[in-house]
Amino acid sequence: MLEQLTNAQLIEIANEFGTPVYVYHAEKIEQQLAELQQAFAGCKAKFFYACKALTNINILKLVNQLGANLDCVSINEVKLGLKAGFDAKRILFTPNCVDFAEIDEAKGLGVNLNIDNISILEQFGNRYGNSYPVCIRLNPHIMAGGNYKISTGHIDSKFGISIHQLRHIERIIKSANLHVNGLHMHTGSEIKDIEVFLRGLEVMFDIATHFPQIEFIDLGSGFKVPYQQDDVATDVRALGEKVAEAFKVYEQETGRKLEVWFEPGKYLVSEAGYFVVKANVIKQTTATVFVGVNSGFNHLIRPMFYDAFHRIENISNPQGPERIYTVVGNICETDTFAWDRKINEVREGDYLVFYNAGAYGFEMSSNFNSRLKPAEVLVKDGKTHLIRKRDAFEDLLKNQVEVAF
Ligand SMILES: *Cc1c(COP(=O)(O)O)cnc(C)c1O
Repeated sequence: MLEQLTNAQLIEIANEFGTPVYVYHAEKIEQQLAELQQAFAGCKAKFFYACKALTNINILKLVNQLGANLDCVSINEVKLGLKAGFDAKRILFTPNCVDFAEIDEAKGLGVNLNIDNISILEQFGNRYGNSYPVCIRLNPHIMAGGNYKISTGHIDSKFGISIHQLRHIERIIKSANLHVNGLHMHTGSEIKDIEVFLRGLEVMFDIATHFPQIEFIDLGSGFKVPYQQDDVATDVRALGEKVAEAFKVYEQETGRKLEVWFEPGKYLVSEAGYFVVKANVIKQTTATVFVGVNSGFNHLIRPMFYDAFHRIENISNPQGPERIYTVVGNICETDTFAWDRKINEVREGDYLVFYNAGAYGFEMSSNFNSRLKPAEVLVKDGKTHLIRKRDAFEDLLKNQVEVAF
């Protein structure tokens, strides 16, 4: 059974809390995590929710209750995770291009560290030697992911330490007596082809022979979710079987029993999220019919930033005749959510919903055009909870300093 909210539920929420509003469905997150746990039941797998996808404290608490761990890319995400109740040992810190002070602070908080830069590794080794274990983020140079903008493992990527620098890494480890407890790779987002993970895993197994102390291999994320009907998702069941098999063979050959870690972001929360907006105006031009909604890329930037596809439906006129629309926002900039979409006839005042809005939706929102960030609502056990108030006008001035001149 697919966990999904009904149009009636979404309309009720829109009426009660206003629009635009992000709505999250707790049971869907639970279902996605269970799917991963089942798929990887054949290996010693751990899942770290990549919380940059959605960090509302209630979502973090939910994920903690569900028993998943947490992957953080900033010190503030680490602090949010601790505030949400995660034990430090269940948090993994995977920053990129941060100041050493941030790594230092994370170490002080007792979380797992993932280092992706030779210079940081060197500084860490010089300061702490083998007194605190670290994981090393490698770039296996595997081209993967939905498109170039969301791919992180290619040759031009800023992420990770190149596997071709292995000798240099080894020199640092030896001279500083570093304790390396894991190897990590994350090659990008929306990887349809499970062979990419398996090829990456082979590379990691090879490199693991140089690291006798490692306890886990972290394969990052990149699990794709479906965005439209007949769209494919990463086949996590098939991947789980193959990964389990690969680890079994590795164990037979080397006698080493390693854990496998994953960092799903999108996979856990994308489909659990709905973004409900109102059609402000219908505008017929000579070439097209625009629906202008009360939102824009200040609230949901994925279509403009990554050419991401979000299915859009008219939930207040679902029986209306289908017509072709271009859906745009109210921001004074190119602000097109979707071209030439077939949607049930849209009337001014209708509610439209964007699906797959849980990941990188609210999280990437801004106050551009001095517009207010939307409210967030969580539906759990059939109950509706406001988990973030809509911005108020005063929020726009918060932190501004008015000076006399
Ligand atoms: C963003 C990110 C993830 C999550 O990626 P998704 O595509 O949302 O699953 C996992 N690991 C790291 C290091 C990331 O930066």
